[in-house]
Amino acid sequence: MNLNIALLPGDGIGPEITTEAVKVLNKIGKIYNHNFNFSEALIGGIAYDKKQSSLPIETLELCKNSDAVLLGAVGGPKWDDVDGDKRPEAGLLKIRKELNLFANIRPAYMYTALKDSCPLKDEIIKDGFNICIVRELTGGIYFGDKGKCNNMDGIEYAYDTEHYNTSEIIRIARIAFETARKRNKIVTSIDKQNVLETSRLWRKTVEYLAKEYPDITLKHMLVDNAAMQLICNPHQFDVVLTSNMFGDILSDEASVLTGSIGMLPSASLSDYNFGLYEPSHGSAPDIAGKNIANPLATILSASMMLKYSFGLIKEADCIETAVQKVLDKGYRTADIMSDGNTLVSTQEMGQLVIDNLV
Ligand code: NAD
Repeated sequence: MNLNIALLPGDGIGPEITTEAVKVLNKIGKIYNHNFNFSEALIGGIAYDKKQSSLPIETLELCKNSDAVLLGAVGGPKWDDVDGDKRPEAGLLKIRKELNLFANIRPAYMYTALKDSCPLKDEIIKDGFNICIVRELTGGIYFGDKGKCNNMDGIEYAYDTEHYNTSEIIRIARIAFETARKRNKIVTSIDKQNVLETSRLWRKTVEYLAKEYPDITLKHMLVDNAAMQLICNPHQFDVVLTSNMFGDILSDEASVLTGSIGMLPSASLSDYNFGLYEPSHGSAPDIAGKNIANPLATILSASMMLKYSFGLIKEADCIETAVQKVLDKGYRTADIMSDGNTLVSTQEMGQLVIDNLV
């Protein structure tokens, strides 16, 4: 296959980790006879510095004309004082909206080799867990009306509003049910229906769609309980379906249970298999430029790209198996390092994955 990939390294550790993912993809291309053509563009703080926009129009055009997008991360303290809509993170929200990336898929898989890095007790971890969070990404409170004002009494006010409609809920719920069909056939839908009107519509709509999926067990859970259950009993979850904000919070919680946020990939999908692939973590400014960041979340995001956008299942499996082998052999970046293992740099970890692709 001949495939065009828009490459957006972004800020902080973004360039270091995407470099390793590109090397892995190029090696996969050689092994399986595919051409991955990468075109690089600016996003985030570096785009603001060079183009006064965190999402320049040429970046958006490149993404629209590509088969998929691979992104590093955006943001950092350098841009903390930049105005709201020009901030690096605003570029990320905008690209999701412009590319209609309404479904965010974040697997939280615990490699047994990384048990030592999991903050949970052994009796809770057992033989690991495998959760897939399906999060709505272009609606909800992050995109609703918002504002701030000074009242006459001098007190400052601010507000954000959450909106959802049934078609937004149905299209994300359908992805959750379809995903569950290929896994253990359980969907746990998260809401706060005891308090929020949007959550009551969410629950009613998910139940309506569930009638099309009699083979899937649907459970509902309040978000506060879900936050606890992820820690007390992560095994009960298969596919977790959430709104935008609840998914943002719960997926970070799930990520830390797997050992390190540096291990977690993500896919953000629109219709027709188009997707943007990025690690679940941020730009990690505290370790940027030191060649110590974990590139595995980005490498695994590239593997999700092969699977979801290009349908290259055996190529994706090849990357996942290589990652597993490298971890089983005891190689660790600093974030997942524990006694008895071998500490490696970002570049060494990338090379180890390449060496184990066969
Ligand atoms: P972060 O995810 O960047 O970092 C949190 C902690 O995890 C840090 O200690 C960091 O060193 C560590 N970490 C993250 N990725 C790692 C990796 N691959 N290997 C090893 N360690 C890793 O979150 P933060 O510190 O809250 O945010 C930093 C910046 O990133 C902020 O500007 C934030 O807005 C931005 N951000 C961007 C995205 C994105 O681009 N999708 C997501 C979250 C945060």
